[in-house]
Amino acid sequence: MTGRTALEYRGLIASALMAAEAQQPTPAPAEEAPVVAYRDPNNPRVLLCREHGKQWHGVVPVTSEDLPDGGICTFGRLSSLTCGRDVLAAPAEETK
Ligand SMILES: [Zn+2]
Repeated sequence: MTGRTALEYRGLIASALMAAEAQQPTPAPAEEAPVVAYRDPNNPRVLLCREHGKQWHGVVPVTSEDLPDGGICTFGRLSSLTCGRDVLAAPAEETK
């Protein structure tokens, strides 16, 4: 046992809960567009599909609303393993 009483613990929990509520004033909007791709803010020509964007550092998620004209994943552009996936093409279909 530490020196704290049950009442003190109750006060700690209450203040912790209040702090947690204060940090989350508004919940995320429910109708947010799904992330379809990732973009490198330092290199606008880079566009990564969800599969490749997840493993890349420093990229920001973009939604279909950010890509009205769609886009092609540029992963591996400089190698022979080019992805070339249309990021707006049904993301759930990962099979070949
Ligand atoms: Zn890709």
